[in-house]
Amino acid sequence: MEKGEERNQKKEENLISIEKKAADSLFKQLDEDNKGFVNPDVIWAKLKCMGIQEEDSRLDEFRSILQKFVTDKGIDKKLFLKLEKQDNLIRRVLHRDLIIPEFKDFCEEITEIYDVVKKNKAGGVADYIPQLARINPEHFAMSICTVDGQRFSIGDFRENFCVQSTCKPINYCIAMEELGEDIVHKHIGREPSGKSFNELSLNNKGLPHNPMINAGAIMACSLIKRDHSIADRFEYISSVWEKLCGNKPVYFNNSVYLSERQTADRNFALAYFMRENKAFMPKTDLTETLEFYFQCCSIESSTEDMATAAATLANSGLNPITGEVIFHENTVGHCMSLMSSCGMYDFSGEFAFRVGVPAKSGVSGSLLVVIPNVMGISIWSPRLDEMGNSVRGVDFCERLIDKFNFHMYDSLTEQTAKKDPRKRKHESKINKLIHLIYAAGNGDLNELQRLEVEGMSLDSSDYDGRTALHLAASEDQLETVRYLLSKNVNINIKDRWGNTALQDAIRNGCNEIMKIIEEAIVLEKQKNMK
Ligand code: GLU
Repeated sequence: MEKGEERNQKKEENLISIEKKAADSLFKQLDEDNKGFVNPDVIWAKLKCMGIQEEDSRLDEFRSILQKFVTDKGIDKKLFLKLEKQDNLIRRVLHRDLIIPEFKDFCEEITEIYDVVKKNKAGGVADYIPQLARINPEHFAMSICTVDGQRFSIGDFRENFCVQSTCKPINYCIAMEELGEDIVHKHIGREPSGKSFNELSLNNKGLPHNPMINAGAIMACSLIKRDHSIADRFEYISSVWEKLCGNKPVYFNNSVYLSERQTADRNFALAYFMRENKAFMPKTDLTETLEFYFQCCSIESSTEDMATAAATLANSGLNPITGEVIFHENTVGHCMSLMSSCGMYDFSGEFAFRVGVPAKSGVSGSLLVVIPNVMGISIWSPRLDEMGNSVRGVDFCERLIDKFNFHMYDSLTEQTAKKDPRKRKHESKINKLIHLIYAAGNGDLNELQRLEVEGMSLDSSDYDGRTALHLAASEDQLETVRYLLSKNVNINIKDRWGNTALQDAIRNGCNEIMKIIEEAIVLEKQKNMK
């Protein structure tokens, strides 16, 4: 065996033994009574805490293993180790290796925001059709689904409401998957219109400005499965929604559809205007296209299921619960760009500025929010502001982004008071500590001072009790030791082996440092005597 190969094999063996040790210690931790068995309830509790629902289809295998092999005593070590090795979801939950590791804490913060936003009663329900005008304005629901399928819902999250314009991004994706970017964008632009969502206006090529406003959404509908019957086309759209929602049924509100059709002068006008400009593909049936569009707006679902659809978008088109690829990642990327620039009616620019994540709202008070690579959020609250966006929906998003660093450009600012829920509880503190110790050892005063400004104590010590002073003294970093002493750091701290910084300096022959620390000790003694 070559030397390199041998080294690699050793590394691999080491890794396996580390993993095995971790699994062993996990077993010990979960074996609460120390009897050599883990109670399945302990695992169910961990799953729940991480936001994995009991009926999650990814747990089918786990459920059947429990049924087949587990006795009253619980899960024995051999089975546990097998489970831990083979069941990806169980392993990741037990090691808290999901995108939001402290999911329970996160949900508590979300609940706080929800409770505050619930008090906001501004705005009014849409009244252009009686079905929307009659909705109870008090409804408020919010659901989250992360890219790892961690879920949380609050409020009226099982209540169905019609998707209205939140169907627009989905229809755009469907058209893109079927026909590709070139054909779709031969018929629909990609610019924010700067005008109202149903404004009778087209771009300078005579095309709808973008797929997130009515004209563009009608155009997208005209492109989907155009050779099929209207019944098949609707069935197809519903089936895609169902897949997006994690194989949950979606519903159809016939009265909304009938009302939409009856009060559709503006949408008919838009369609005729587009036909006059030869924007449609040849042989497009206008009435059929419009009816198909109204039907799409009348699809109903709940926030609980729509959050999974939003999470599928956040997860580049792969449904996190079913594991099925619904849309190609490029399609989703394009859709996210358009949602970011055009998804919130005339508030789109402001929303992109303040909140900075792709979103799409609808006149039913529905709001679909995507935090790429993290989570999808569905909010429903029927009262709208003058732009047509859900008042509570926007309020919720603004408060969410005040608290967490989800804004697209939050990554540009290092020093932020916002929380990053993607990190484990102590991760950011530990990271800073590592930086501090490393900077001291390398004599990097700038970095040391930066961390100090960020509130890091210069006396912080690592797992072995080593402080910045220990490291600077051991590595002969005279300037750094001088600086630390000028900041009155504690010179008496001992590391886990009982050594002070002075002993480190003596051992490593750093004479100058030894001298200044000794002087500092004398000074300290004198001060204490006074
Ligand atoms: N069905 C509505 C229309 O076309 C959709 C409005 C919306 O949610 O933006 O007028």
